[in-house]
Amino acid sequence: MINIVIFGPPGAGKGTQSIRLKEKFGLVHISTGDVFRALDPESDLAKLAKSYSDKGNLVPDDITINILESEVAKHPNEDGVIYDGFPRTEAQAEALDKFLKTKGTSITIALALEVKEDELRERLKNRAIDSGRPDDADPAIIQNRIDVYKQQTAPVADYYKAQNKYIGVNGIGSIEDIFERLCDAVQAHA
Ligand code: AMP
Repeated sequence: MINIVIFGPPGAGKGTQSIRLKEKFGLVHISTGDVFRALDPESDLAKLAKSYSDKGNLVPDDITINILESEVAKHPNEDGVIYDGFPRTEAQAEALDKFLKTKGTSITIALALEVKEDELRERLKNRAIDSGRPDDADPAIIQNRIDVYKQQTAPVADYYKAQNKYIGVNGIGSIEDIFERLCDAVQAHA
């Protein structure tokens, strides 16, 4: 079983690369952002999540951890999972380790896509044209997402470094080139 965390700031290419990795290695792809966006928009949970995500803030840990665990439970017999956009806080990283332990498994590697801030802003601005996401459209919200990443999510890198599971990957270049780098990292470590 291979369990991969794909890690990196907003706009780093986590979703794009997760779809490719999922196909190549036969994994389930779980994106907590996608799960939040797929909730029935009339439900209390969706409204609550949207009240945070529309501003570029993180949804509280207890809600996010619950939703992640129920998503994993939908795929009991898989060869492994790509966690995309989760964990985003140390508390989430700890909760994920605990949860996987109860299933007799663990995170194999955390692949971190490294992209400079200017490039992130440019990519998110361009993505807004097609994504229809309100959190991609407004430069102030984009900046908040980057700041939230730096303050709350970047420290998760140390969590995986301490476990010798962190692999930094250059996230600049063509989608194919970056994918090749990620595949090399998986094959070398998994
Ligand atoms: P994403 O699609 O990964 O960019 O996520 C979109 C939004 O969903 C984020 O800006 C957060 O508001 C929320 N979200 C997604 N994943 C998480 C997470 N692991 N923890 C907290 N909030 C999250």
